[in-house]
Amino acid sequence: MAKKNIPDIVKAVRAFTPTPIDYTTQKNISYSQLSMFMDCARRWQIQYVEGIKPFTSSVHTVFGTALHEVLQHYLTVMYEKSGTEADRINTSDMFEDALRNEYKKQYVSNKKQHFVTPEQLREFYDDGIDIIRDFAKNKGAHFSKRGWHLIGCEIPVSIAPHPEYPNVIFNGFLDVVMYHEPTNTIKIIDIKSSTRGWSDKEKKKEAKQFQLILYKHFFSTQFNFPIDNIEIEFFIVKRKVPEESDFPIKRIQIFKPASGKTKVKKAVTAMNNFIELAFSTTGYNQVQHSYNVGDGCKWCPFHKVHHCEKTYNS
Ligand code: SF4
Repeated sequence: MAKKNIPDIVKAVRAFTPTPIDYTTQKNISYSQLSMFMDCARRWQIQYVEGIKPFTSSVHTVFGTALHEVLQHYLTVMYEKSGTEADRINTSDMFEDALRNEYKKQYVSNKKQHFVTPEQLREFYDDGIDIIRDFAKNKGAHFSKRGWHLIGCEIPVSIAPHPEYPNVIFNGFLDVVMYHEPTNTIKIIDIKSSTRGWSDKEKKKEAKQFQLILYKHFFSTQFNFPIDNIEIEFFIVKRKVPEESDFPIKRIQIFKPASGKTKVKKAVTAMNNFIELAFSTTGYNQVQHSYNVGDGCKWCPFHKVHHCEKTYNS
């Protein structure tokens, strides 16, 4: 079989290796830091400046990591070899191993304390298998090989977002990046696992959308690729779909947030505000609590813990 010519942009993205952070002079930031800061600046400060990292893994995060691994491997085989070859992968065994390994890793970082019951793990395993089967069955509807290249999975972006703060470096990994050669279009996909999919309310949360909008902006800057030729997509896989319904409910939900100039500007402004408020050109600034007690605080690991002055005595 004749080998496909690899387009220049595909080669350039694959060849990119980020420069390691120099922690003596630079600060590393990520989308999850921005998201946390937007919720509560003090929580961000406790975790990232004071270095108090509570254990926050759960069955959901373990499941998400294991599922990413399998779906990304399946896609890689599908594009590098064939769909038939991808279907030959023993995804059940692979998912079981990935789930076990990730759980073991988190169990060790939780000082060898279990945080999930065997029944929960079993339920999530079964859900994962249903998702993987559905994904394999419907791969053609979401991933075409006609004109498309899989650039790769876990593609790094590493960039100083704010020109006046060259010491603050954003690092992120893009779940799946595709290139459509006939239209010179890049597609950035973020895989999310969810119990029943995203509701309209969830889709409207701008802070959630900012993740992919920022990835689009940073990818365009990093690879000098026209931003108007970049699509973004949340690829949401649902653990539960109703068995009895008058019409078939899909297990895969696609959400493409608007990402035109206005949205990109909003996301970039949010990122710049974060950097300006939290950092100086040599270190950190002091920041304030952003939540009113009881608002989002109930989900915070520092709620009523002495690190959080605001809720500790309330
Ligand atoms: S408990 Fe509330 S105010 Fe305190 S750090 Fe957490 S989110 Fe912020």
